[in-house]
Amino acid sequence: MSRFDLRVLETAQKVPGKPRHKTREVKVGDKIFGGTNPIWVQSMTTTDTFDVEATVKQINLLEEAGCELVRVTVPKPEDAGALGEIKKRIGIPLICDIHFDYKMALAALDHPIDKIRLNPGNIGSTDRFRQVIRKAKERGLPMRIGVNAGSLERELCEKYEFPCPPAIVESALRSIEIAESEGYHDIIVSLKSSDVLVTVEAYRLFAQLCDYPTHIGITEAGKPPYAVTKSAAGLAPILLDGIGDTIRVSLLGDPVPEIAACFDILQATQRRVRRPEIIACPTCGRLAIDLEKIIAELEQRLGGSRLPVKISVLGCVVNGPGEAKEADIGIAAGNGQGMIFRNGEMVRRVKEEEIVDALMVELADWESKNQHRIPKENGKDATGLGRRKLSLV
Ligand code: SF4
Repeated sequence: MSRFDLRVLETAQKVPGKPRHKTREVKVGDKIFGGTNPIWVQSMTTTDTFDVEATVKQINLLEEAGCELVRVTVPKPEDAGALGEIKKRIGIPLICDIHFDYKMALAALDHPIDKIRLNPGNIGSTDRFRQVIRKAKERGLPMRIGVNAGSLERELCEKYEFPCPPAIVESALRSIEIAESEGYHDIIVSLKSSDVLVTVEAYRLFAQLCDYPTHIGITEAGKPPYAVTKSAAGLAPILLDGIGDTIRVSLLGDPVPEIAACFDILQATQRRVRRPEIIACPTCGRLAIDLEKIIAELEQRLGGSRLPVKISVLGCVVNGPGEAKEADIGIAAGNGQGMIFRNGEMVRRVKEEEIVDALMVELADWESKNQHRIPKENGKDATGLGRRKLSLV
């Protein structure tokens, strides 16, 4: 007889993971946001938008890193004037970021862009917002209603005393109602704060009330590496709750590292699995093999592999066999040898210098037997990993 109430365990979900929050689909260029579509990775340029050469160069670098949509700021008429040329020279959807001046939003909408982002807290009167909505509707273009805790409407700050999650959500809902009253529904919403707790609760609250797709991020996260950790701390609970249809990690300086950070967060939360997951121990005095060398060689040999497979390589027999059993392919080292596990079963032993070769043989075997787990559609990634595969909708 346990002093704990074990009935809780009997009814608990064995396979962890929540399904994606069901959102409506909104088209942005060649990407569809929401529904069961991928959580798209985006970034923003740091150049003067009117400097076409510098802006295109930075966008090309972002594209090479895997960026799937890009945003540029449009504070002046010459920035709007550069949009057509920029659009011609890039391969991903172009988003215009507008603050304060609704006339710049109207000007941007005269150019071949794919989406516009407005901040309802600083765009001025409702009438101005409506003018932008009408023009976006006429052009058939989607809009991000980008609420930011730092520029919330004064009235909402007074009502809630400070930019708390309900204040942020009410701001978004008010803008949505205005847009809907114009018959406009091509909406994506963001509810950002530089405070992780405020941001997470704002997205959770919004998801209870609304099914528009969301752009998720922790705004002004600061300088890496802390900014990456802070973003992961905020984005992980949102993603694990099934919320989020596009993601940006905001880093001070060069935007290119934002892309790897976004994909790492999506990989770790198993919302977009784009490479094998390697489980390796930190090593300690019990280490029985040269684990760092083995992992470096394994990573190099895996190259651009997109397989959603979990590979565990542990340095001794303490946790090695246990972890290896939970992975698709595993190694537990001991006495200069590696015990190879496949789907939880120990299949053979190899010498230390043969471990990486043996793992590659197992990987080829896993691939041939797990074709059903490998997305076939162009650009699609797996959701969920390895033997503890998530049951995602
Ligand atoms: Fe140390 Fe073994 Fe744990 Fe690795 S698996 S950290 S070598 S005890």
